[in-house]
Amino acid sequence: MSGQPSIFEQINSFVRTAGERCGIPPVYLGILLSTYRELRVQLVLQRDDGTLLETFGYRIQHNGARGPYKGGLRYHPAVDVDEVRALASLMTWKNSLVDIPFGGAKGGVTIDAQKFSKRELQSLTRAFTRKIDMALGPYRDIPAPDMYTNAETMGWIMDEYGRKHGHTPAVVTGKPIALGGSQGREAATGRGVSFVTQWAAGDYNIPLRGGTVVIQGFGNVGSFTADFLHQAGAKIIAIGDANGALHNPQGIDIPALLQYTKEKKSLVGFPHAEPLEREKLLLVPCDILIPAALGNVINGENAPKIDTKLVIEAANHPLTPEAAAIFWKRNIRVMPDILANAGGVIVSYFEWVQNLQQFFWKESEVNERLGEKLESTYRAVHEIFSREKISLRESAYMIAVQRVYDAIKLRGM
Ligand code: NAD
Repeated sequence: MSGQPSIFEQINSFVRTAGERCGIPPVYLGILLSTYRELRVQLVLQRDDGTLLETFGYRIQHNGARGPYKGGLRYHPAVDVDEVRALASLMTWKNSLVDIPFGGAKGGVTIDAQKFSKRELQSLTRAFTRKIDMALGPYRDIPAPDMYTNAETMGWIMDEYGRKHGHTPAVVTGKPIALGGSQGREAATGRGVSFVTQWAAGDYNIPLRGGTVVIQGFGNVGSFTADFLHQAGAKIIAIGDANGALHNPQGIDIPALLQYTKEKKSLVGFPHAEPLEREKLLLVPCDILIPAALGNVINGENAPKIDTKLVIEAANHPLTPEAAAIFWKRNIRVMPDILANAGGVIVSYFEWVQNLQQFFWKESEVNERLGEKLESTYRAVHEIFSREKISLRESAYMIAVQRVYDAIKLRGM
């Protein structure tokens, strides 16, 4: 977007503010504002029709002071070096905030994954793995699913990595259970989002039972979030994906929609709700708004028109700093991404631990530990928010940035 700071710059503005508040010396702050290693590799794929396609893949490691690099892998046309840097940085802060022993990384391939066959995606994933495998490993860098990648993609990476390095399930998380994945991982991000939503609704006196919720995105995060909140009694009155959106003021029947999208691969045409223009979704008045798809979707232009009480950032970086400032002035609380969607990486951490020990946990144990970790983090962030009268994001960044700085200092030079 011309005139807008880049996404990486936007994230760095949060880091700078937190670093200055914590009194971090400028030279250390400089380290926190840049990345450790950036890989950009050329990928050439033979399409099913015989033509050749050239694209690029990225893996960016932001900071590894607290442990191996960890972060998702995204297949999307908007993937570029700036976006991957920004998302890698977000992972450093998320992992630090929830206090799991990882640094931050992110990866991406610039493709419109929806237009590729499974064979093409597998071939591209294997080629990408071969080209970056020197930077991966259970004690180096551990990818996980993100937009338009899933458990199957992780299985391909594990297999390709294992050809050269031997069977190494801990090199990726979010794998299929049959390949060493963890119980509860697929639902973990949405489960975490729904926990945080319920705690925040309680703290801000928004009744969840019967409360109205709008969700953007019905992929992994959006669909599990919708399902858990529906089970908790909330009314999901509008929901959208890349193809369209739906509206039903009485509340959408989420189990029926899940069944419908399983068959149709899109929510468009679902018979028990009115179609809605995709662009109007975020403007539907509601108690709780949950962006769970792309970044930067709420900005200076639409933020003044959004009618809600609470925003839960299930997607990574869905609000520009301008939008966040508008909401702060309007007294609309925003639960930041590094807290709201941390459930996924928390259970990824559990998966990594289980893989290293070759000893597996029951789903109830995974979910219980997830709830404990997220709740203690939520309370710690809330405590700073109440004491310092700064936003929840600024509170979260203060904890996260301080911990990474401490780790860098303790390692010595
Ligand atoms: P996904 O690929 O499973 O689903 C993405 C969803 O976004 C789909 O429903 C898609 O149709 C929708 N979408 C795409 N473009 C859209 C548009 N222009 N308008 C409306 N909807 C659109 O991806 P996911 O794993 O659910 O990830 C969603 C977000 O959550 C991303 O920002 C991701 O970084 C973040 N996140 C994911 C995880 C995880 O564990 N998967 C963890 C933390 C954060």
